[in-house]
Amino acid sequence: MSDVSGASSGSSMVRSRKRVMGVPKQCWCGYEISTLMSRSDNNPYRRYHRCSYAVSKKLENDNHFFKWVDEALLEEINVLKNKMSNLEELVKEFMMERGESEKKVFEKMEMKLETELFDKMDEVLMEAKWSMKKMCAGVVIACIVGFVIIKLV
Ligand SMILES: [Zn+2]
Repeated sequence: MSDVSGASSGSSMVRSRKRVMGVPKQCWCGYEISTLMSRSDNNPYRRYHRCSYAVSKKLENDNHFFKWVDEALLEEINVLKNKMSNLEELVKEFMMERGESEKKVFEKMEMKLETELFDKMDEVLMEAKWSMKKMCAGVVIACIVGFVIIKLV
């Protein structure tokens, strides 16, 4: 049985998240990333992304790719949120000096980002149900509230 408790263990929400944002297609070793479900006591039924090489070799405490699915999704949401607020800044600057045509272009881009963002949020909510973690649901809600506040400002 693949037990991941060793690989990233209690990985609390706070710990170092400076590494890779989201999930890459491949591990640094060139193997694809698989999505599996944890069976450890600490994180029952919590899904995670893992290097397929490490899975096949049943490696533990190695440096191949590992990331919880819910955490990866939250990271992607944050990236999208940043993109959106950057875009909004850009639009404001543009509006000061340019006409309507550019405005339309930016509106389209923003719509696209927004759709992407809401899709991701759906995924996160699904994931929260999966992992049955109150912690996770709390973060998701905080995330959505943050997003709404950004939109209102
Ligand atoms: Zn690997």
